[in-house]
Amino acid sequence: MASYFSHLECSVPCGAPAYDARTTQHLCTCGAPLLARYDMDAARAWSRDSLASREPSMWRYRELMPLFEAEAPVTLGEGWTPLPHAKRLGAAVGLSQLYIKDESLNPTNSFKARGLSAAVTRAHHLGAKVLSIPTAGNAGNAMAAYAALAGITAKVFMPKDVKTPFIRECELYGADVTLVDGLITDAGRIAAETGKPLGWYDVSTLKEPYRIEGKKTMGYELAEQFNWVLPDWIIYPTGGGTGMVGMWKAFAEMSALGWIDPVKRPKMVTVQAAGCAPIIKAYDEGAERSVLWPDAHTAADGLRVPKAIGDFLVLRAVRESGGGAVAVTDADMIACMREIGRLEGVSAAPEGGAALHAIKVLIAQGRIQPHETVVLFNTGGALKYLDVLA
Ligand SMILES: *Cc1c(COP(=O)(O)O)cnc(C)c1O
Repeated sequence: MASYFSHLECSVPCGAPAYDARTTQHLCTCGAPLLARYDMDAARAWSRDSLASREPSMWRYRELMPLFEAEAPVTLGEGWTPLPHAKRLGAAVGLSQLYIKDESLNPTNSFKARGLSAAVTRAHHLGAKVLSIPTAGNAGNAMAAYAALAGITAKVFMPKDVKTPFIRECELYGADVTLVDGLITDAGRIAAETGKPLGWYDVSTLKEPYRIEGKKTMGYELAEQFNWVLPDWIIYPTGGGTGMVGMWKAFAEMSALGWIDPVKRPKMVTVQAAGCAPIIKAYDEGAERSVLWPDAHTAADGLRVPKAIGDFLVLRAVRESGGGAVAVTDADMIACMREIGRLEGVSAAPEGGAALHAIKVLIAQGRIQPHETVVLFNTGGALKYLDVLA
């Protein structure tokens, strides 16, 4: 099968020359994330009609994934998740076209599987022997699983107050777990200090270029599942922002391929926790970047990211799309987890609950109209968060 993967490029872009994707790369020399680029002229020969008969995983888009010809992905079947029409929940909030992209059905119960399948695939083909990751929980679980599958050693650094299931699941996959006194940003510092002298391959959010490529497949899937007409709104609980940045990139790529309308894009809404809302604050203040959020706290572990290295890319996507930014309290997100469960039979993490509450806020503000198509991202399942329901 063809591969159009060609090189890496600064996300700013700062003007640095292209980076060679056949060797290990992390950040640009300017400190910004790198993005994977493809030979889009050649890719126009690829027809979207060829997708119908492909495997039901995110690797169905492999020509535009970071995979060179003849390479095999490290895969547990992630992606191609259901997109149920949430009729009962929609009726309860006043929407006729509400859909849930149910990412809880990925391996290790969250959409982190997509990013880590792509990142571990590349690390494996680059010959990495030890992978390290700072995580609020789900990313560590996914990394541990894919590293186990690839036979690579996994080192996971997480806050010591993380919920127990996240720790046990890492151990289940044979990862070494280090509990850190602090938040994911502290875990990142300690992981880097420990791993750098030892040559560990760091798979921190956006500090390697490939987790975005895994998460961008959510954008491809939405287009394909909606028969190539994108929804009006995408409501996305944001921590590091990989999914927002990834989907925005996917829309640009599909537009270059002629697969979707070149102009119409969904309004992208970033949702954070009231106890940790650096990107919402930056959006409200009209800032280009966020500022480290002090004393970050929330029941939604995936949203406990006080400062994201790709914040400017998230803010760009939200603004270019004419979307919005909403902060949600823990009490509201937990009430909404229950509502999603009760009305749709879907197991939602607090992050998914936060997305539902944000939808209610945008309806109350008159921004979302009753007939518009809205996609709620349920980014993970409830099972690792059961303590918040007790
Ligand atoms: C990590 C995580 C998020 C945030 O994802 P980003 O793409 O990094 O912003 C949201 N929900 C859950 C369940 C997560 O694990």
